[in-house]
Amino acid sequence: MASVKVAVRVRPFNQRELDLHCACIVEVEDKKTRLVNNKIAAGDGAESRERVKDFTFDYSYWSHRDGDQHFAPQVQIYDDLGTDVVSNALQGYNACVFAYGQTGSGKTFTMMGSQSNPGLIPRICEALFSSMAEGREAGTTYKVEVSYLEIYNERVKDLLRAGAPNDLHSLRVREHPKLGPYVQDLSTHLVHHYPDIQELMRRGNSHRTTASTHMNDTSSRSHAIFTVTFIQAKLQSDMPLETRSKIHLVDLAGSERADATGATGQRLKEGAHINKSLVTLGSVISALAEQAVKTSGKTVFIPYRDSVLTWLLKDSLGGNSKTIMIATISPADVNYGETLSTLRYANRAK
Ligand code: ADP
Ligand code: MG
Repeated sequence: MASVKVAVRVRPFNQRELDLHCACIVEVEDKKTRLVNNKIAAGDGAESRERVKDFTFDYSYWSHRDGDQHFAPQVQIYDDLGTDVVSNALQGYNACVFAYGQTGSGKTFTMMGSQSNPGLIPRICEALFSSMAEGREAGTTYKVEVSYLEIYNERVKDLLRAGAPNDLHSLRVREHPKLGPYVQDLSTHLVHHYPDIQELMRRGNSHRTTASTHMNDTSSRSHAIFTVTFIQAKLQSDMPLETRSKIHLVDLAGSERADATGATGQRLKEGAHINKSLVTLGSVISALAEQAVKTSGKTVFIPYRDSVLTWLLKDSLGGNSKTIMIATISPADVNYGETLSTLRYANRAK
């Protein structure tokens, strides 16, 4: 049975918001996230009912150290959401983890983090390797492969190809009759120890940023998918048993581009493409969530084919896969509109 979990994470104020003396308009309590529109006066008139919007998610994370709201460090996000992904992978199931939100809201911080404060991706990979060390002692053998790609304007680029990344080079997406959609010629990298993965992450991330300085910050307009494929072989009642699972860790394009109003030319095209992927992803996840609660045998149509992103992730969305969406938001009043749209998107996904 497909399982979808949705979390919201509020980042601390950034320097710009502090300089602007922004008000904090987000409150977090247990699973609840509350957004306050401070342009509307508090009171009991009809309009004031619009002032506060409450949402409930599987988790709501706070990042400020002040006040009595609970501060959620990287390790807590991993403990709540990442450990499940690791245990699922060990049981042979696929998983997708997405970070969704406007640019600067904490997607990369949550997924990658920094050297001194690692995010979900390095923590998940490190835990996989420690579990493997235990499994090996029990006679299991493992093979782990990594690939890292970027989707920009519905085209796929390999972030781990040897040599300089070529902005014009895009890979074809094909469909295997049995294995489903795949990217032709995407490089895969065998990893033996956790430091191998760290090196690949570093290399792929640097390709992502190199391209972005040349192309006016493509990283906020592209989706990056870090994939770990995990094959384990053991003997079960003297029969060889091989299981294969995939973990896709996805840092999505900034959601603000989803609204391309006023944009022209290249911007408009990008906006439309990003819009298509993010809208389709939202529809796919909400269809999966709907299917999960359906008791009748009736199947829900899932529009995987409508974007490259969802098409590539098809084998890991639905079925026995785990899907986790982390919506990242700013606490500041200046971002009210974007924050509301992110919370609505996340709310549709649950
Ligand atoms: P995005 O990838 O969504 O554009 P980033 O992850 O790059 O945003 O975050 C923007 C800035 O905010 C970075 O400097 C990052 O370190 C900081 N930041 C984001 N989320 C948090 C958090 N939860 N706690 C502390 N700092 C954060
Ligand atoms: Mg980012």
